[in-house]
Amino acid sequence: MAAAVRARARSTTDDRALMHRIVIVGGGAGGLELATRLGDKLGRRGKAEITLIDKARAHLWKPLLHEIAAGSMDLGHHELDYLAQAHWHHFHYRTGEMVGLDRGRRQVLVGPVIEENGTEVTPARGYPYDTLVLAVGSLTNDFGTPGVVEHAICLETPGQAARFHRRLVNACLRAQNQSEPLRPGQLQVAIIGAGATGVELAAELHKSTRELVAFGLDRIDPDRDITLHVIEAAERILPALPPRISKSATELLGKLGVKVYTSARVAAVMPNGIKLADGGIINAELVVWAAGVKAPAFLEKVDGLETNPINQLVVRQTLQTTRDDDIFAIGDCAACPWPEHNAIVPPRAQAAHQQSTHLAKQLRRKLTGQPLEPWRYRDFGSLVSLGEYSTVGSLMGKLVGQSFFVEGYFARFMYVSLYKMHEYALHGFTKVALDTTVRLITRRTEPHVKLH
Ligand SMILES: Cc1cc2nc3c(=O)[nH]c(=O)nc-3n(C[C@H](O)[C@H](O)[C@H](O)COP(=O)(O)OP(=O)(O)OC[C@H]3O[C@@H](n4cnc5c(N)ncnc54)[C@H](O)[C@@H]3O)c2cc1C
Repeated sequence: MAAAVRARARSTTDDRALMHRIVIVGGGAGGLELATRLGDKLGRRGKAEITLIDKARAHLWKPLLHEIAAGSMDLGHHELDYLAQAHWHHFHYRTGEMVGLDRGRRQVLVGPVIEENGTEVTPARGYPYDTLVLAVGSLTNDFGTPGVVEHAICLETPGQAARFHRRLVNACLRAQNQSEPLRPGQLQVAIIGAGATGVELAAELHKSTRELVAFGLDRIDPDRDITLHVIEAAERILPALPPRISKSATELLGKLGVKVYTSARVAAVMPNGIKLADGGIINAELVVWAAGVKAPAFLEKVDGLETNPINQLVVRQTLQTTRDDDIFAIGDCAACPWPEHNAIVPPRAQAAHQQSTHLAKQLRRKLTGQPLEPWRYRDFGSLVSLGEYSTVGSLMGKLVGQSFFVEGYFARFMYVSLYKMHEYALHGFTKVALDTTVRLITRRTEPHVKLH
């Protein structure tokens, strides 16, 4: 009996040893969808061993970060535990931060995980792979501007967004409880960068600070006391989007009383505000850096792979890195050609989503020795949510081959559907429908802003 069990265990181990190992690093918009699809298609049937490595324990879809920061969304309602998703979808989850790569030994090098008190949770180790997918996303690019690291908050992780929200609530509580008048810059927020993140954050903060104050902070008059500044180096806000969207968003921010500065370059961030290149000073209690992206520094020439000046891995149309056929990169950390525009594919959730859908099929072809098909980016347009006030953007018309301007409820619907598509890829139709219904109900019985 024991011998039979041992033999069965040995044969399972042997099967596993023979199985093709696909390792995905980064469980974000692209990586987690890919791990889920591959787990369902290959892991479940024992056709490949799928492993996801992420330095975080839970996933949050990054485009929600500005809502977490503003307090209009509760992190706990939208985070997804990697361990649970791995268990449900037949892949392994390993915690840890990728710090390097050994292509010779085909191993991903992951640093140790250490608790706050210094105790080791998991040791430094190497994870062997046959096929590797790097999906580690991007970070904000402060272009070396002095004071950003010390005095500004970036919106890169749920932790940073939650920290910003805590500081915002504390700022309001402090102002409510002080007897002397507000000092210069108090209750003022400066957002550096008027791309989609900066503009969406400004509109969301306008709404959520009013809702927060309405919960009994009666010594604060939001119109008089709270000021939002948006600072952009380009000539117009939302510079990467068509001018009509910028115009519409500028008008709305103007109506809300948000102070918009264009052609304004930030020279330094200081403890109490910002210094502009022209010498101007903007006093602010809270500063958010939301300008520019770059891929994580450890990717720079990681074991000889080709990278561009912002550390993105250069990939071919098949999403394979240029110097290693068994290493793929998707999402923000990949520089993938966009031949129709003579550019690289922009760092967007819709690109990460399309790449993960494509790669899930291609990796199945790779396992059966079939040639890989090229991936082509389909730009469906861009949408910018201005909180509950409006949504504006452009959608690509398939027939006319040109983008057209959208706003209002239709634009809002399209904006929300991008997140729903991500949820659908992770959970399937039934769970998304149930979750959405539950959220609609609980939203009626809870404050619309997080109060702590
Ligand atoms: C505030 C905000 C709003 C946005 N709004 C939109 C929008 O409206 N529409 C849109 O299309 N795009 C939007 N984006 C961009 C979009 O979020 C990204 O393009 C998308 O998330 C990229 O997906 P990804 O899988 O490449 O990386 P991410 O989703 O960033 O995931 C990367 C993952 O890798 C992990 N990781 C990073 N480094 C390591 C490491 N060394 N080791 C292990 N794990 C690691 C991270 O923990 C994370 O889980 C927004 C971005 C932000 C910040």
